[in-house]
Amino acid sequence: MMRFAAQRVDLTDGGTRDRVPERVRTVVVGGGLAGCAAATVLAERGASVTVIEQNDYLGGRAGAWTEALPDGEPFEMERGFHAFFRQYYNLRSLLRRVDPALHNLIPLLDYPLLGPEGASESFTGLARLPPFNVAELVLRTPRLRLRDLARVNVRAALQMLSYDTETTWREFDASNARDYLDSLNFPRDARQMLFNVFAHSFFNPEEGMSAADMLMMFHFYFMGNPEGLVFDVLNEPFSLSLWRPLRRYLERHGVTFRMSTVAERIERDGARWRVRLVGDEEPLAAEAVVLAPDVPGLQRIVSQSPDLDDPHWRRQVQRLGVTLPFAVWRVFLDRPVRPDRHPFVGTTGLGFVDNISVYELFEGESRRWALRTGGSVVEVHAYAVDEAVSETEILGDFWLQLRDLYPETREARAVHERFLLRRDCPSFAPSTYQDRTTVPTPMNGIALAGDFVRLPFPTALMERAVASGFYAASHVLARWGVRPEPLWSVPPRGLVAGLRGLWS
Ligand SMILES: Cc1cc2nc3c(=O)[nH]c(=O)nc-3n(C[C@H](O)[C@H](O)[C@H](O)COP(=O)(O)OP(=O)(O)OC[C@H]3O[C@@H](n4cnc5c(N)ncnc54)[C@H](O)[C@@H]3O)c2cc1C
Repeated sequence: MMRFAAQRVDLTDGGTRDRVPERVRTVVVGGGLAGCAAATVLAERGASVTVIEQNDYLGGRAGAWTEALPDGEPFEMERGFHAFFRQYYNLRSLLRRVDPALHNLIPLLDYPLLGPEGASESFTGLARLPPFNVAELVLRTPRLRLRDLARVNVRAALQMLSYDTETTWREFDASNARDYLDSLNFPRDARQMLFNVFAHSFFNPEEGMSAADMLMMFHFYFMGNPEGLVFDVLNEPFSLSLWRPLRRYLERHGVTFRMSTVAERIERDGARWRVRLVGDEEPLAAEAVVLAPDVPGLQRIVSQSPDLDDPHWRRQVQRLGVTLPFAVWRVFLDRPVRPDRHPFVGTTGLGFVDNISVYELFEGESRRWALRTGGSVVEVHAYAVDEAVSETEILGDFWLQLRDLYPETREARAVHERFLLRRDCPSFAPSTYQDRTTVPTPMNGIALAGDFVRLPFPTALMERAVASGFYAASHVLARWGVRPEPLWSVPPRGLVAGLRGLWS
């Protein structure tokens, strides 16, 4: 009988040494979660580490930097709201380096989902353990009547409870998430409230996302998650609660940061490597390199580095993709939203909007600003936005939906706002699984990390970034007999995966 609890995953055949026995120079390209996780393990095991980051701030897609409000007051701006789920075991282990009791994380007790015409779904008060939590959610949904349930395609639905790394990918990678969700036969309204938001939460459009990825995400977040449908948020901006403390921690372990610096090319130097930096004559020599940029960054580096010379691997890298753009709008309103609003709501069927957060309800800096000015700090996200849609259209729709959903904002003016439209999240297209790059590469001393890499256990987003960073560091250090960093996973198989044969 499978234990329904976090499990340790051993992927590296390292050794038992706590530290490298000799001087080992390493370079980490990319100062996001994946790169900083790798730098943490490399530095803690005694390697000398240089982190190269092209931005002047750490964190990449979870980064934060200082901006000034119109009155000159400094404010920490971020790339957007992030949910820290309880089953993010590896991310939590990274956070504990700088916040041992995880005081900086506070729970969001409910995160309702709002839809057209006042439709609303709540995740609060559900049983903690699957499948009871999901059964309860489905049964209390007003959009599902008993006769609708009788029409649900049970065979297809059972796939969500029987995730198995090998079989699920073999059977479902060629189909897209839309076809899979259609095959469940849920009534339109119930499908919209329970499922439509899901692919978007991974930035991918349903029709462009592998059904196997979708099933893996269902397993990781719902059916295979022993921690329940709960998440936490940081109670101060990412820069204050995570990036500055982590940078200090790493610098105390001897890590050098080269900020505003672009890694251009990797060259072979006998059994070692050289990392060439844009505008720098002198390359950095290293016994090992962890490449932890985003997909476009990795593709640029590889295309300029003929010495990363395995042809199959090069093709794999070039075939990685980014999904459609996402938009993040942070607006400082001159008046408050109603105090009983939720800190975070997901939305579906409301124009481009995918979620709305009210920052003063959970984050200290925004709370202080709101108290002082009587205003409100609101953030709106849209994922998988069609490329043809303009910034003006998206922004117009954000205002429209916000005013409609929270009527107290109808007269509100923006004291300050910041709008980001970016395209750097990985795509998980159908039929790409086998071809996705892994942490180990065919080149000795080169490892990959990031939320785009394929890991052999269910994981996603920030948690995958950190897990892959830990794994990449352990992998390159294995040749010095160094103890790997423990990796943790939700139960890797679904509750009834052993019975798949009965309905597959
Ligand atoms: C709006 C938004 C909301 C999100 N919400 C959530 C959420 O709620 N929960 C969740 O788990 N995840 C969420 N995510 C996803 C999460 O942010 C990412 O999965 C994670 O941050 C990826 O980390 P990474 O280190 O793999 O990549 P990145 O953060 O992209 O880091 C890569 C770094 O490499 C740098 N780089 C690239 N090329 C070079 C080069 N040549 N030289 C030097 N540096 C280079 C980049 O500047 C960047 O800093 C969200 C993402 C976005 C955009």
